[in-house]
This record gives sequence, C-alpha cells and structure tokens, in this order.
Amino acid sequence: MTRTVIVTGGSRGIGRELAISFSKKNYNVVISYAGNEGAAAETKALCKENGAADVLTFKGDVSDENACEELVKTAMEKYGQVDVLVNNAGITRDGLLARMSAEDFDNVIATNLRGAFLMSRFVTKPMMKQRYGRIINISSVVGVHGNAGQANYSASKAGLIGMTKSIAKELASRNITVNAVAPGMIETDMTDALTDAQKESINSSIPVKRMGTPADIANAVLFLADENSSYITGHVLAVDGGMGI
Ligand code: NDP
Repeated sequence: MTRTVIVTGGSRGIGRELAISFSKKNYNVVISYAGNEGAAAETKALCKENGAADVLTFKGDVSDENACEELVKTAMEKYGQVDVLVNNAGITRDGLLARMSAEDFDNVIATNLRGAFLMSRFVTKPMMKQRYGRIINISSVVGVHGNAGQANYSASKAGLIGMTKSIAKELASRNITVNAVAPGMIETDMTDALTDAQKESINSSIPVKRMGTPADIANAVLFLADENSSYITGHVLAVDGGMGI
C-alpha cells in the first residue's frame, strides 16, 4: 500500500527536506506553501527524483480554514487516504514585548498554531475512518524554554505542545499518534538572517557545537511517522544538539 503524507510549508527549508525524505520511502507527497511558486516547483522535482510515488503541490494559507479543508479534500480525492500530517509551516515576527504589535502576535499564532489546529482537525476524519494516522507538529526549543524577543513565536510553539498532548489523548484509541518535534537552531532561510558573529556565538553555546540541518529534523519525523512507532504518542522529541539540557 502506498502511504500519503501532507507536509505544510513543504516548499523550503525543513519542509522541503521532509518532503524529500518521505519521497525516499515511496510516499505520495503533498506539500503546501504560502506563495513561493518557484521553490514549490523545485521541491516537487526533487521529490520525483527521490522516488515519490506521486507529488502534489498546493498553494494555500494554513491559517485559512477553507484553504485547509480544500487541501485535505484534494489529497483525499487524489490518493484516497492521508496517513501522515506534518504541521511544519511556520513564521517568525520577532521583537521585544514592548515593541511587538498585536498584528505580529496574531499573525504568528494564526500560522503556527491555528494552522496546525485546522489541518489536524481536517485530517482526523479520514484518519479515524482508516483507523491509522500519524500527526507530527514541528514545535521548537523556544516553545519549551522561551526566548527573549520571541513572545509570539514561543507562545505559538508552546501552544503546539499543549495541543499535541490533548489531541494525542483524544485519538490514541483510534490508532492515531500525535507527537511534536522541537528543533533547536536549524540552518534554513529562517536562521539565515543571523550574522556570522551571532551564528558563532550560538554554535559555541550548543553542546554538539554546530547548528542542526533539515536532515536532522527529517530523521526524527520519519521515526515518529513510522508504522512501528505506534506506542509513542503525546511525546515532544527535542532535536537540538543538547541546547535544552
Ligand atoms: P522556512 O522559513 O525556511 O520555510 C517556511 C515554510 O512555511 C515555507 O515553505 C513557506 O512557504 C511556508 N509557510 C509560511 N507561512 C505559511 C502559511 N501561512 N501557509 C502555508 N505555508 C506557509 O522555515 P523553516 O524550514 O526554518 O521552519 C520550518 C518549521 O520549523 C517552522 O514551523 C519553524 O517554526 C520550525 N523551526 C525552525 C527552526 C529553525 O532554526 N529553522 C527551529 C525550530 C523550529 P513559502 O515558501 O511559500 O513562503
């Protein structure tokens, strides 16, 4: 049986690596993205090169309820099942609390938390019917430990952890597991804005002395998405080179 995965925010960074990793396992791969057509097309080509059974790209905002419904409907019509959902789409709008606008707070919560809620809700029905599913939420080390300048982002990522545990309890008896991965500093466009000096200082503070790669995260997600990981649910797996110790 060919399994189907939906990766939100699959056009770039960690999401692209996830899409490629599931392709190597011969999944039907569905990636959503916000607007970067070129990056989505590139990821689609990479998925095909890496053995995806089929690839579908979907442009849509994860904070938009109709777009999420349409995304799951499109995947179901094409493949008849959704086995794995990775809620990976995420944004940052950093700033110290005193200067953070309510809009920047709301936008980050809408994409990072509401988006994961909506997508999880829409895949639950088909997953319950199948009596099989894996939902994996990409949280962050700052959702556990906090970070100055990221009140909005850390709230969204901490929220994801609470939601992961609640949904895990709701769906466990249906053979659907729900887990979170909490990455540390990972080399992607999101962290590209850091200066070399900032990166050096961060690296020296990480016990394994390097930033992580998207592949480090993909390995953890693939483990949780595996059929054999059926006894792991409601867990938050830190993949952070020891940052959170
Ligand atoms: P990138 O900025 O590299 O990529 C973000 C992806 O999300 C893109 O595919 C983008 O689409 C998509 N996206 C953004 N907003 C929306 C939206 N509203 N609807 C649908 N898709 C959207 O991010 P990373 O790969 O670095 O991060 C991926 C996840 O990992 C995020 O949740 C992030 O918070 C988390 N994370 C990252 C860390 C890091 O160090 N990089 C550390 C800890 C957690 P498009 O290309 O169209 O813009």
